[in-house]
Amino acid sequence: MVELRGELRENEPLARHTSWRVGGPARRLYRPADAEDLAAFLRGLDPAEPLLWLGLGSNLLVPDDGFQGTVIQTQGCLTGLTRLGPTGIFAEAGASCAKVARFAARHNLVGVEFLAGIPGTMGGALAMNAGAWGGETWPHVQRVRTLDRTGTLRERTPDDYAVGYREVRGPEGEWFLSVDLELQPGDGEAGMERIRTLLDQRARSQPTGLPSCGSVFRNPPGDHAARLIESSGLKGCRIGGAQVSEKHANFIINTGDATAGDIAGLIDHVRREVQRRTGVRLVPEVKVVAGGEP
Ligand SMILES: Cc1cc2nc3c(=O)[nH]c(=O)nc-3n(C[C@H](O)[C@H](O)[C@H](O)COP(=O)(O)OP(=O)(O)OC[C@H]3O[C@@H](n4cnc5c(N)ncnc54)[C@H](O)[C@@H]3O)c2cc1C
Repeated sequence: MVELRGELRENEPLARHTSWRVGGPARRLYRPADAEDLAAFLRGLDPAEPLLWLGLGSNLLVPDDGFQGTVIQTQGCLTGLTRLGPTGIFAEAGASCAKVARFAARHNLVGVEFLAGIPGTMGGALAMNAGAWGGETWPHVQRVRTLDRTGTLRERTPDDYAVGYREVRGPEGEWFLSVDLELQPGDGEAGMERIRTLLDQRARSQPTGLPSCGSVFRNPPGDHAARLIESSGLKGCRIGGAQVSEKHANFIINTGDATAGDIAGLIDHVRREVQRRTGVRLVPEVKVVAGGEP
C-alpha cells in the first residue's frame, strides 16, 4: 500500500474554490503532493466515484448542494514551471496562466501574453482552449501529459484533440497533468509591456474586482453575446444576488449573497430572453457541475 503525501479534505465548501464564490461542499477534495502522489491517489479510488478536476474554479458553476464525489485540486499543488530547450516551457496543470505569461516574457519568449489576464490554471486553459485578444492556448501546445482515473500516465500531441473556440474534445476519461508549450523567441520587455496594456484594457472593459466567471456565454459566429444581451435590455437584470453586469453584459456578477441557484436562474432567463428577442440561442461557456463530472 502506497502512502499518500497529499492533503485530503472532507466536506470542503467549494464556494472557497470558485471565482463566483458559490457552490456547496465536495464530499472529498484532494490536494496532491505531486504527480506521482496524484497517480497513486487515483489508483486507490473506487472506479464508480464521480471525479471533478478543479483549477482556479474561474469557469465553473457548482450547485448549492455541492458535488457528491471527489474533487482533484491542481491549483497550489501541481505548479511546476520550467524552461524547456531554447523556445519551450514546461508547465504543470496547476500553474497559473498569469505566471506562465510572465515567465515566458522573462525568458524572451512571446506569443502567450494574452494568458496574463485569464484568472485560471494551465489545466483549465487546456480544457477550455482559453483565449483572449486573438490568442488561444492550443496553437502553442506541443504535447501534453494526461492521467486517467486508474492513474495511468500518457503523453499526447495536439493531433489527439479536436480543438475549437472554447471547446476541446479528446480521449474520454483523461485529464491534463502538464503541457509543453512551444513559443517564439522575441523581446521580453515588449512582451511585458503588452501584458500591461492587455491588463489595462481588461480592467477598463470588465468588472474585474467582483466575483464572476468571466464571459458566461460563447460569442455566436459573427456576433458578440454581450451585444445581444445588452440589446435585449438585460444589463443590470437581477435574480437574488446575481446580476448581469452593467459594465460588461456577458458577465454575471455575485453582488454579495448570490446562490448558485440565483446564477443558474439568471443564466436561463438571459438565454430565454435573448432567444425571444433576437432569435439567437446563446451557448454557455461556463461549465455547470452536475452531481457527477461537468
Ligand atoms: C474575470 C474573469 C475573466 C475571464 N476572462 C477569460 C478570457 O479572457 N478568456 C477565457 O478563455 N476565459 C476567461 N475566463 C474564464 C476562465 O478563467 C477560463 O475558462 C480558465 O481557462 C479556467 O481555468 P481554471 O483553472 O479556473 O478552470 P476551472 O474553472 O477550475 O475548470 C474549468 C473546466 O476545466 C476542467 N479542468 C480544470 N483543470 C483540468 C485539468 N487539469 N484537466 C482536465 N480538465 C480540467 C474542469 O473540470 C472544468 O470543466 C475568465 C474568468 C474570469 C473570472
